[in-house]
Amino acid sequence: MRRITVLGATGSIGQNTLDVVARHPEDFEVFALTAHSQVQVMAELCLKHHPQYAVMGSQSSASELKELLGTQVSTQVTYGEKALAEVSAAGDVNIVMAAIVGAAGLAPTLAAIDAGKDVLLANKEALVMSGQLFIDHAQRSGARIIPVDSEHNAIFQCLPQAAQQLVGTMSLAEHGIQHLLLTGSGGPFRDIPLEELSKQTPGAACNHPNWSMGRKISVDSATMLNKGLEYIEARWLFNCSREQLKVVIHPQSVIHSMVQYTDGSVLAQMGEPDMRTPIAHSLGYPERLESGVSNLDFTQIGQLTFKQPESARYPCLQLAIEACWAGQWATTALNAANEIAVDAFLQEQVGFTDIAKVCDSVLQSITTHEADSIETLLAIDKKARLAAKQWLQEYAQ
Ligand code: NAD
Ligand code: MG
Repeated sequence: MRRITVLGATGSIGQNTLDVVARHPEDFEVFALTAHSQVQVMAELCLKHHPQYAVMGSQSSASELKELLGTQVSTQVTYGEKALAEVSAAGDVNIVMAAIVGAAGLAPTLAAIDAGKDVLLANKEALVMSGQLFIDHAQRSGARIIPVDSEHNAIFQCLPQAAQQLVGTMSLAEHGIQHLLLTGSGGPFRDIPLEELSKQTPGAACNHPNWSMGRKISVDSATMLNKGLEYIEARWLFNCSREQLKVVIHPQSVIHSMVQYTDGSVLAQMGEPDMRTPIAHSLGYPERLESGVSNLDFTQIGQLTFKQPESARYPCLQLAIEACWAGQWATTALNAANEIAVDAFLQEQVGFTDIAKVCDSVLQSITTHEADSIETLLAIDKKARLAAKQWLQEYAQ
C-alpha cells in the first residue's frame, strides 16, 4: 500500500489521478488532497477518497469545506502554503502528484523533492522556473522524479532502463541516443489563416481538438508556448543539448513523443490522448496499471502526419527555445510573463496575439540575470510579473 498526496486535486490532472487511484484500492491510499478554491469539487473528492488531510488556499474556503463535510468524513481541513508543504513532505507519504498549475506549485513540489518522495511531475512550470536548482535538490535528497506530462512520459518510456534511473543527469549520447523529438498537435489554431489569429477568443483557444485540459494549459497549447515550456522541461529532465532536442507537429496526437537512437532506430510511445495513461504509468512504475483508457484502433486513425511548426504562427515557441538556451533568468521570466498574459487573455483584456508580445517585451526588460537560488529566482519571477502588468496597463490606456 502506497500513500499519495495529490497537489491540485480538483484540476484536470488531479481528478484523472484520482480516477486511476480509485481503480486500485489495494495499491494506493490517499493521504492528502489540495485545492485552491473549488470547495464543492473538493468536498465531493473528500467524500469519495477519504484523505487524512485536505488543504485549501484560504481560511474562508477551508471553513466552507469543513461545513460541507460536517461529520461525514474524518478528514482534517487546513489551508495555506505551510500546510501545502507539510502534506507534501509528511513522513507517511510515498508519492506526491505535483499537479498545481503554474508557479504556485514550485514550493510544495520542492518540499516533496527535498523530503525524498517519488514526485510525479505534471506541474511543468515548477521545473521551468527553477531548472538546475530543482534537479540539484532531487540529487541531494534522492527523490525520484517521474514525468507525467505526456510527451516527457513518452520519452521516459522510450529510454533504456539505465537512463530512466538518471532523470536530470543522464548522458543521452552514452545511451546511444542522438536526439529527442517532442510532438505537439499544433493546437486549435493550427490551420486557420494567420490574419485571423488576433481575433481568437478564450472559448476558441480552450477548445483543444484532441485533449481536454485546464484553461491555462489550453491557451498555452494554442500559442504553443506549452510546447516551449515542455522543451525547457525536457532539457532539464533529460539533460539535453540544443542539438538533442527537436519539436515536430503531429496533428493526430497518437504518438506522444519519440527517441531517435544513433543506429537509426526511432522509439515512439503511442496511445489515446488521455492523461490517465501517463498518470497510470507514473503511479505504477516500473509496473503497469490498468488506467481505464481504451486501446488505440489503428484502422480508425488511418494516417499519422507530421510537419514543422511555422514561426509566424507560433512566436511563443521560438521565444521559449531561445530563453531555454539564454539561461535560467530567461525561462523564469518567460514563465511568469506568460502566466500574467494568459490570465489577461482569459479575462478578455488582451487579444490572443498579444500574449507573445507581452512575453517578448518582458524578456527584453529583464537586466538582472542572477538566478542561482530560490530567492533570486523568485525575484526574477516577481520582476517579470510586474513588467507584464505594466505592459497590460499601458495597453489598456
Ligand atoms: P487545472 O487548472 O485543471 O487545475 C489546477 C489545480 O491547481 C487545481 O486543483 C487548483 O485548485 C490548483 N491551484 C491553482 N492555483 C493554485 C494556487 N495558487 N495554489 C494552490 N493550488 C492552486 O490544471 P491542469 O490542466 O490539471 O494542469 C495542472 C498542471 O499539469 C499544469 O502545470 C499543467 O501544465 C500540467 N499538465 C496538464 C495536462 C492536462 O492534460 N491537463 C497535461 C500535461 C501537463
Ligand atoms: Mg504535454
